[in-house]
This record gives sequence, structure tokens and C-alpha cells, in this order.
Amino acid sequence: MDYYSSQINRLVEELSSLPGIGAKSAQRLAFHILNMPKENVEKLSRAIVEAKENVRYCKCCFTLTDEELCPICRDEKRDHGTIMVVENTRDLAAYEKTGKFEGVYHVLHGAISPMLGIGPNDIRLKELMQRLQSEVEEVIIATNSSLEGETTAMYISKLIKPTGIKVTRIASGVPVGGDLEYIDEVTLLRALQGRTEL
Ligand code: ZN
Repeated sequence: MDYYSSQINRLVEELSSLPGIGAKSAQRLAFHILNMPKENVEKLSRAIVEAKENVRYCKCCFTLTDEELCPICRDEKRDHGTIMVVENTRDLAAYEKTGKFEGVYHVLHGAISPMLGIGPNDIRLKELMQRLQSEVEEVIIATNSSLEGETTAMYISKLIKPTGIKVTRIASGVPVGGDLEYIDEVTLLRALQGRTEL
């Protein structure tokens, strides 16, 4: 079974532990890396290690960034009174790609799931409520349309309602259970524009 040296095997093994990388892709990547000039390999491995060392959560919206405040929260031209709540940084990236959302975000890092034992305290909900103490006009809930996403949306809207801040939910039409990041920009934009008040 040991066609390669143990070091190649180790590289293949590490690569195949990544999501979406099967044994065949891992092999292909391993050989590709071995054929790369040494300095490119060093650049790649440095990028991985440095990102891991320096990337943290934005102090305000909890997206991943390498500074205290992410570029979106730092941007004075954005509408800081409109907060879009998403499940993760990938969803934020999907909305940013549309280039049409001028507000800011709040990244929950998950969704409430009684089945998986994930409760409101396990996501960044407390931090969202703290943000609402400054001037906020609207909270747009853009969690996925999965059961967990809907549960989370309902929970958040109940929490915010008493504060008098407008709470809206992106329109459905986003495929059920579909991760936001896989949905095209037009669909996302339509979901955003068609949002309804909760
Ligand atoms: Zn931020």
C-alpha cells in the first residue's frame, strides 16, 4: 500500500483532512505542491501560519479579520444604523459580493439548534444585543432558511421587538437549507430587497 515515501503520505493525509478534499484531490494537490518552486511553497505555508496567528474576531461585528476592527466596521461611509445578522463570515462575504448592501453586519458564528444542543448563549447573540444600545434603526435577519436559521431568526426577533428597533427578515426564495454562500448574487439581492418586517 505504501507507494510513496512516508513524507508524501503525510502530506496527502494532511491535505485530505480538509473539507471537500477527497483522497484523489489530496494526491493531486500533494504532487502539485512538490512540483512548485520552493519559494512558492514557503509563501503558501507562511500564509497559512500567519493567517492562523493573526486572524481574530472583529471587536464589533465578530467577523474574521486581522485587525481590532474589520474594514467594514471602520468604514465611516457605511450605514452603521442598519445591521445585517448572518450566521458566519462566508455569508457576510456572499452579501458583500453583491456590492449593494451599505449597512454593517453582525456575525453570529452559528445558529440555534436544540437538536445539536446549541443554545442562544453559544452564538454571538449577547454581543448583538449590546450593539443595539447605540443608535440602530434596523436589524435585518439574514440567517439561512434552514430549521436552525428560522429558529434563530424567530428568537432574535422576539428579543429585539421590545426595544422598538425595526426587525426584518430577508425574503424566502433562498433555497431551504441552502448555505447563503452558494446562492447567486441576484437571488441574494432579491432576498434583501424583498425583506419583510417581523
Ligand atoms: Zn467588524
